[in-house]
Amino acid sequence: MLVNMNDVLLPAQKGGYAVGLFNTVNLELAKGVLAAAEELHSPVIIGTAEIFLPYSTLEELSYFLLPMAEKASVPVVVHLDHGLKAETCKRALELGFTSVMFDCSADDYETNIQKVREITQLAHAKGATVEAELGHVGDNEDSAEGSSQLTDPSAYYTVPAQAKDYVERTGVDALAIAVGTAHGTYKLPPKLDFDRISEIAKVIDTPLVLHGGSGLSNDDFKTAISRGISKVNIFTDINQAGAMAAVGVYKEGKGMTDMILPSIEAIKQSVMTKMLLFGSENKG
Ligand SMILES: [Zn+2]
Repeated sequence: MLVNMNDVLLPAQKGGYAVGLFNTVNLELAKGVLAAAEELHSPVIIGTAEIFLPYSTLEELSYFLLPMAEKASVPVVVHLDHGLKAETCKRALELGFTSVMFDCSADDYETNIQKVREITQLAHAKGATVEAELGHVGDNEDSAEGSSQLTDPSAYYTVPAQAKDYVERTGVDALAIAVGTAHGTYKLPPKLDFDRISEIAKVIDTPLVLHGGSGLSNDDFKTAISRGISKVNIFTDINQAGAMAAVGVYKEGKGMTDMILPSIEAIKQSVMTKMLLFGSENKG
């Protein structure tokens, strides 16, 4: 069934588990992710990010993601990840996406609040939810979010007192925080500031989101979730799993159609591993 982010993140926050966002920018990704969710009876968040729109437009995705979410046997949120322009967020909401992230983390604090508050009011009027980012999650070189290389990532970590002011003034439903992760593939293992997650969770009721999760250790995920993370974004891992399956088939001299089912299966297995790690199985 098609739901919004509150429907899946508030129970997750209460239950001490996390729900995964797995971007589904084509049919194979969508089929793999939804098959994993249904097999494990897990809630799930699917969708795309502004940076992925060259692969499939919001409109094209709405043709199949929304009906697939409605027909699914588990709660499915159709979300725009990292919306960078207000118009993109508005378009997603018009098309029926049930959630948007408006990423104004590169703006100054007051501008970030003003822009996000406007989208939040619009989304709430449609029964949709909004995620925002405070502080700035860094990007590894190959990241799909871009490559705003941060020389000192800790200078951009989320400040707990500011997080409280931010959620009160914007009314957002979920908050992405910067605690030491980065988008894309890591060269060195990341070091997370777990105490900061606990401090933020102590001062705000809004569910917290961890971006840049691909490549983190299982212990990192478990600790982050136990400290108060309710949503984890994963893309690089499942993207690579699908590609590796396709390459294997190609090397056997086969064609495009032969890649489809093995890719879906590899994506499904990769997603299931994460869902079991996040503890979202049997919560749908
Ligand atoms: Zn992100």
